[in-house]
Amino acid sequence: MNQYDLVVVGSGPAGRRGAIQAAKLGKKVLVVEQGKRVGGVSVHTGTIPSKTLRETALNLTGWRERGFYGRAYRVKQEISAEDLRRRLLITLDHEVEVLEHQFARNRVQHIRGKASFIDPQTLQIVKEDGEIIQVSATSILLAVGTKPFRPDYIPFDGKTVLDSDELLEIEDLPRSLAVIGAGVIGIEYATIFSALDTQVTLIDPKSTMLDFIDKEIVEDFTYQLRDRNMKLHLGQKADKVERTPDGKCAITLDSGRVISCEMVLFAAGRMGATDSLNLAAAGLEADSRGRLSVNPETFQTTVPNIYAAGDVVGFPSLASTSMEQGRIAARVAVGAIAKEPPKFFPYGIYAVPEISTCGLTEEEVKERGIPYECGIARFRETSRGHIMGLDSGLLKLIFSLKTRRLLGVHIVGEGATELVHIGQAVLNLKGTVEYFVENTFNYPTLAEAYKIAGLDAGNRMGEITPKA
Ligand SMILES: Cc1cc2nc3c(=O)[nH]c(=O)nc-3n(C[C@H](O)[C@H](O)[C@H](O)COP(=O)(O)OP(=O)(O)OC[C@H]3O[C@@H](n4cnc5c(N)ncnc54)[C@H](O)[C@@H]3O)c2cc1C
Repeated sequence: MNQYDLVVVGSGPAGRRGAIQAAKLGKKVLVVEQGKRVGGVSVHTGTIPSKTLRETALNLTGWRERGFYGRAYRVKQEISAEDLRRRLLITLDHEVEVLEHQFARNRVQHIRGKASFIDPQTLQIVKEDGEIIQVSATSILLAVGTKPFRPDYIPFDGKTVLDSDELLEIEDLPRSLAVIGAGVIGIEYATIFSALDTQVTLIDPKSTMLDFIDKEIVEDFTYQLRDRNMKLHLGQKADKVERTPDGKCAITLDSGRVISCEMVLFAAGRMGATDSLNLAAAGLEADSRGRLSVNPETFQTTVPNIYAAGDVVGFPSLASTSMEQGRIAARVAVGAIAKEPPKFFPYGIYAVPEISTCGLTEEEVKERGIPYECGIARFRETSRGHIMGLDSGLLKLIFSLKTRRLLGVHIVGEGATELVHIGQAVLNLKGTVEYFVENTFNYPTLAEAYKIAGLDAGNRMGEITPKA
């Protein structure tokens, strides 16, 4: 009864995609999920809630219309935490419902409980009511994801000093917020709250942020944050966080400076959720951040029948890439052919403004010694940008001078995470600058920025002389 072809631990993007893939190949699959509802961090505390919060904040504040009506413009004058939560609950319900239906349609069984290893092919599952069962599987896929890193020196209280999971439960919007950690999650929340007119301070010991993003894009982004009065304390470490008698918080930086604020979000890193898996019983070991190492092509761990995919294997730690990893791992696990995904995948940062990128940055192109040319377009150069009242937004294309092929696309501004897919397609199909110069784009669209940037680069690259 309790023997499966594949048992998947975790129902986030990697687990759910892996489970459905194996079931579609006719395998008997079980998903074990310890959370109240299926969906993982992605649905309940990560991707979907943060993006819903962002969308709600932009809608209620009238952010997208401020180019026309000024910075004081608001759709709703008083925005409460309840306003933000209401839309969140509706979205989450819908996501869970779709997922449960996908499991049912594909005959993926799922059980609520916490899994841990007894041996490499057997798991113990502790159900919510305390009942313990055992299941065996030919293969096991660990898609357990991550949880927020909570160091001892931060006095988390779930009300004024919070991690990114707890932030979704706040009862009142703070007037001031300090975000410790200028990684993707910290930056997304910092800018969302800043759009809600919370006074935001961003703190990080590193003097730069988003180092994997093209520097020119980060500079433009940073300018926009400063322009709306966000305080950036980069290159400064938060040594001490305390609650003060007036109910506020005080953060002492290593520079000696003290930041006072109503709320602190600690978003400096996440840990692989492997501590309760009893990995030793399976002959596995996690690294110091709880992550598992895998073969990057098969997602096989050092124990041949155990696979790991998603955030628990580290970079890039995206829902999008986790899904693909889960699918590939499941195919390999059940003996099906698994094609390697195309080389270039997009990275989206849903800050306000959005950033999205695919391919090589200018810094990487330089490092590799590739002769190159860049093309730049500002959204305000497009008619669509005028219609939308955009005064910011930048698209940058990088081309090889030798092959004329697109090497990278980098965007900051409205719609960046959607627009990037045009560049991604050209990159993966090995397209050249001519694609942008010669093709017709819908008018008026922001996508026209591709044509403008293509022409900008093409003008300097010169035309190809047709062969006689
Ligand atoms: C605030 C935030 C914003 C994000 N925004 C984006 C974004 O915009 N775009 C994007 O692509 N990515 C985003 N991400 C990242 C994205 O959420 C993750 O990449 C994705 O959720 C990872 O999927 P996963 O399948 O590895 O596992 P997860 O989604 O982390 O799910 C793992 C599941 O495993 C369960 N589990 C763990 N241990 C056990 C056990 N022992 N037994 C049973 N169940 C267990 C957990 O309860 C959890 O439900 C964001 C993350 C955060 C935190």
